[in-house]
Amino acid sequence: MSEVFELGEITVNVTLKSVKNVHLTVHPPEGRVTLVAPMSTRPEVARAYAISKLGWIRLQQQALRDQARETERRYIERESHQLWGRNHLMTVIEEDTKPFVKLDHRRITLTVRPGSDAAKRAEVMHEWHKRLLHAAVPDMIERWEARLGVRVAGYFLQRMKTKWGSCNHAAGNIRLNTELVKKPKDLVEYVVVHEMLHLLEPTHNERFVALLTRHWPQWQESRRELNALPLSSETWSA
Ligand SMILES: [Zn+2]
Repeated sequence: MSEVFELGEITVNVTLKSVKNVHLTVHPPEGRVTLVAPMSTRPEVARAYAISKLGWIRLQQQALRDQARETERRYIERESHQLWGRNHLMTVIEEDTKPFVKLDHRRITLTVRPGSDAAKRAEVMHEWHKRLLHAAVPDMIERWEARLGVRVAGYFLQRMKTKWGSCNHAAGNIRLNTELVKKPKDLVEYVVVHEMLHLLEPTHNERFVALLTRHWPQWQESRRELNALPLSSETWSA
C-alpha cells in the first residue's frame, strides 16, 4: 500500500510494508523523499513522523543541491570532465578559428575563440557530445532491432532535465538525453534498450518489466548506476 502527502514544498511517498522500523530516505539526485513504515502505521502517524524530520529532510536536500552545483562545469583548464564513464582532463586553447574539440587518451582539448564565455564553451562541448552519441547510438539500435524484432523510425538527442530517455510509441521514435555521453556505454545501451522496449509496451506494467528482465536482466543495477550522483569534482592525478 502506498500514498503520497505534501508537507509544504516537500512531497513524501509513503509505503507500508512488513518492516519493523520506519525508514525515511532522501534520494539523489533530486532529493525525492520516501517513507517506508510498518503495515500497521496509521497515515496521521506517518505524517507526524515526517513532520518531525522536516529539518533533517531539508538539510539532506540542500546537501544534494550543493553537490550538484559543485559539479557544474566552467570549461576551464585542468577541469575534470566525464566521458563514457571516465574522467578526462580539460585543456583549453584560445585561437581565432572555428571552435572544435579534440580527444586524445584521457585529455579533452577545447579550442575556442579568445574571450569565449562558459556558455559558448558549453555549447561547443554540447555539439561535440551529440556527434559522439550519433557515432555510437545507431549501432546499438540496429543490434537491438534485430534482437527485439522492432523498428525504430528515428531517434533524437536532446538535453532533458529529468529523464534519460523517452519513447513516442505512436511515431516509433525514441529520444535520448545528451548527458548520457558521460555514462559508461553499457548504461547508454540500457537506456536505448529500455526505450526500444517501450515500442513493444508503452507503459511500465508487468509485461514491460518481464520484457526488460528477459532482455536486460541487470536492469535494476543499471538503473541504480544511472541515477547515482555525478562524481563530485575531484583533484586530477595524471
Ligand atoms: Zn520507461
